[in-house]
Amino acid sequence: MPKVTGHCLCGQAAFEADGDIKVVANCHCDDCQRATGAAYATLVFMMSDDVKLSGEVGAYDHQSDSGNTLTKNFCPTCGSQVWGTNTARPGMHALRAGAINEQELIQPGVNVFCSSAIPSTPRDEDLKAFDKMPG
Ligand SMILES: [Zn+2]
Ligand SMILES: [Zn+2]
Repeated sequence: MPKVTGHCLCGQAAFEADGDIKVVANCHCDDCQRATGAAYATLVFMMSDDVKLSGEVGAYDHQSDSGNTLTKNFCPTCGSQVWGTNTARPGMHALRAGAINEQELIQPGVNVFCSSAIPSTPRDEDLKAFDKMPG
């Protein structure tokens, strides 16, 4: 099982996770674009029980189009997102790939919300692609 570690920009909020990475998704949804300030978010899904946080995180809740509550957890000092959760996927944390130290573990398997991808974003055509979120 991989050991995944990560931290925010200032280092105040950190996490450690022991367990399997369930899926790594490049999410091109409008919410991820705005929340990250980037063209898309790379989300590393692991079981919440496997993830241990140190430091403090703030939380921002918002509703998705499908009515689920998504929470973005971020460092209150530097503003970096470190992970998020979604009531559609109870028991899972979506770690933010950019926060993770073990870069070799970040192997996206899927592109989601391609319908809202920024047109100039290069995409690996070998990956499965979905207009919205599958399932
Ligand atoms: Zn920070
Ligand atoms: Zn998204």
